[in-house]
Amino acid sequence: MRNHRIAAIPGDGIGTEVIGAGLRVLEALAVRDGGFAIEVAHFDWGSERYLREGAMMPADGLKQLKPFDAIYFGSAGDPRVPDHITLWGLRLAICQPFDQYANVRPARVLPGIESPLSGIGPGDLDWVIVRENSEGEYSGAGGRVHQGHGEEVGLDVAVFTRAGVERIQRFALDLARSRPRKHLTLVTKSNAQRHGMVMWDAVFESVKGDYPDVTTDKMLVDAMTTRMVLDPASLDTIVATNLHADVLSDLAAALTGSLGLAPTANLNPERRFPSMFEPIHGSAFDIMGQGVANPIGSFWSASLMLEHLGEAAAASTLMAAIEHVAGAAEVRPRDLGGEATTEQVTNAVIAAIEGANR
Ligand code: NAD
Ligand code: MN
Repeated sequence: MRNHRIAAIPGDGIGTEVIGAGLRVLEALAVRDGGFAIEVAHFDWGSERYLREGAMMPADGLKQLKPFDAIYFGSAGDPRVPDHITLWGLRLAICQPFDQYANVRPARVLPGIESPLSGIGPGDLDWVIVRENSEGEYSGAGGRVHQGHGEEVGLDVAVFTRAGVERIQRFALDLARSRPRKHLTLVTKSNAQRHGMVMWDAVFESVKGDYPDVTTDKMLVDAMTTRMVLDPASLDTIVATNLHADVLSDLAAALTGSLGLAPTANLNPERRFPSMFEPIHGSAFDIMGQGVANPIGSFWSASLMLEHLGEAAAASTLMAAIEHVAGAAEVRPRDLGGEATTEQVTNAVIAAIEGANR
């Protein structure tokens, strides 16, 4: 029996609701498969802990997480705590030390889901956005000088290293190569940002020759937003900086129907540290505690996690179950225009898993 040790960090708001649902689905998959077991350890880290003890996670939190095969994360964010504290105190406090430099965000219109773009169905929008996840605009370098005085200065320094840029571009080229279209679009802003972004372009010129079977093109990030909306079928795999890809992937999620559907993998591709899997949405203050969050982004993230753990069969059983349920009008959650609760969607996905052909 293959045993996978998962650290579950539901975090705050609807994070707790959708991760609870995802763990039920993972258990159903393990039972169905019979070849593997999921051993879950629960970590109650997040804003409640911050308000109680002054820190989102314990000082030795990374040491506690290191032995796990993967981390299943909900979201960090609470109306009572400033967002930069929750983000840097938990999610980035894990991603950066564990060198999860490749943030992978599939965006695809699922069968039965309506894109806000008219006439766009499955097959017309099938992307993977690769986001540099360790440096760039979110390096954390910077500071505030003359705080509170009239001459106050706030600095956020975007840090781009050749090593960091090359490894994420090679990762994206490898990923593009593994997909049927074998096409990669590089996104920068090298007209206005004339140092780090020009280096991104130069590094790309120097590495893409190693992938002669992958076709490539380049876009400025502002023009990219219009291409995503006006010509989605022309895109396949996309690589961009931490900030640019953060913004583009929320747009991508909306174009596939809802933020509630979209998954993420934060990968340490060399597997020196555990990788982390999470829905891309946040704590959703407006609906938390109501039991109506769409759990599909959390399930899709669980499927990416199973793939990473080597459970390809269970990962595709789960994707098939998600697609089956997404297409069913009677279990449509609120963000997709229906009335189904988190629990009803979860039960429907579990029923589809239990009914799946082996
Ligand atoms: P959000 O993703 O929480 O919500 C945006 C909108 O989408 C809301 O109207 C919400 O109801 C809806 N939505 C999101 N997920 C949904 C789901 N699964 N089902 C149904 N509807 C869903 O983004 P926000 O409002 O900008 O942020 C709220 C908090 O979450 C903030 O504290 C923010 O910092 C945090 N946040 C955390 C993460 C993370 O931990 N990875 C990501 C984004 C935002
Ligand atoms: Mn984001």
